[in-house]
Amino acid sequence: MLRRSALLLPFASLLPTGGRAQTPADANAAPLAVVASFSILGDLVREVGGDRVTVRTLVGTNGDAHVFQPRPSDAAALREAAVVVRNGLNLEPWLDRLVRSAGTRARMVTATEGVTPRRMEDDGHGHGSIDPHAWQDLRHGQVFVRNIAAGLAAADPAGAETYARNAEALRGRLAALDGWVREQVASVPDARRKVITSHDAFGYFGAAYGISFIAPQGMNTESEPSAAQVARLIRQVRAQNITAVFIENMTNPALLDRLAREAGVRVRGELFSDALSPPEGPAPTYEAMFRHNLGLLVPAMRGEG
Ligand SMILES: [Zn+2]
Repeated sequence: MLRRSALLLPFASLLPTGGRAQTPADANAAPLAVVASFSILGDLVREVGGDRVTVRTLVGTNGDAHVFQPRPSDAAALREAAVVVRNGLNLEPWLDRLVRSAGTRARMVTATEGVTPRRMEDDGHGHGSIDPHAWQDLRHGQVFVRNIAAGLAAADPAGAETYARNAEALRGRLAALDGWVREQVASVPDARRKVITSHDAFGYFGAAYGISFIAPQGMNTESEPSAAQVARLIRQVRAQNITAVFIENMTNPALLDRLAREAGVRVRGELFSDALSPPEGPAPTYEAMFRHNLGLLVPAMRGEG
């Protein structure tokens, strides 16, 4: 929490000072003020919007969007925004409340619109729930880009051509990256495509690229697994000779450290799932996140190093 708050403060300086929402009429006069709910969307909006937009991200780098506590300055940012970009699929239950209390007139853009949602594994109460982590499939990332470009163009018609051009270039890169991820995974024998990670954020990734992800912590990063669940995982790691054990950048590593120690394997590093790193870190953009994660996952699944 402290990390996130400290990192977010400098973004306040990016806010326009006019104190009113922009309308298409003055889109030429000042950049379009966009609020993105979390860092991955913030990066995509910057790519699509370019110089025509300023972007404020509510849940910052290394932050946890599942348990975010909005501050008064976030409501102020929403009031001044022309566009708000959210993930949807229940990732940001706090955002609807914030939008209501802020009384913003910003255009709401839902990045996952048109994505077929995946359901989480059974949560132990007899039913699964919607999995919000759709961005972990690069084909869905291309849908996000299309939705963001359409939302920006609707708020700023004069920029429509720019947004469409930027979106097309980005979608081309994401399609190429998708092919690269598939090649990388293909270099790992089928039986070894198993990964343990701290929270259940890689369901779409696993389904898209053919990897089984096993997470002791549920979708919500606040929940802790029981002792029996951890013991069962340790047996599974040993029995299936799983060598790819990871923590995530926005979760508490203590649980996975313990699991790895007791199962006699080592934690292979930090995967980026729900948030990007700061600019100087290993995953400052959506595209860099995939390159970083694959760079760790492939040798770990192969049992190298
Ligand atoms: Zn998550």
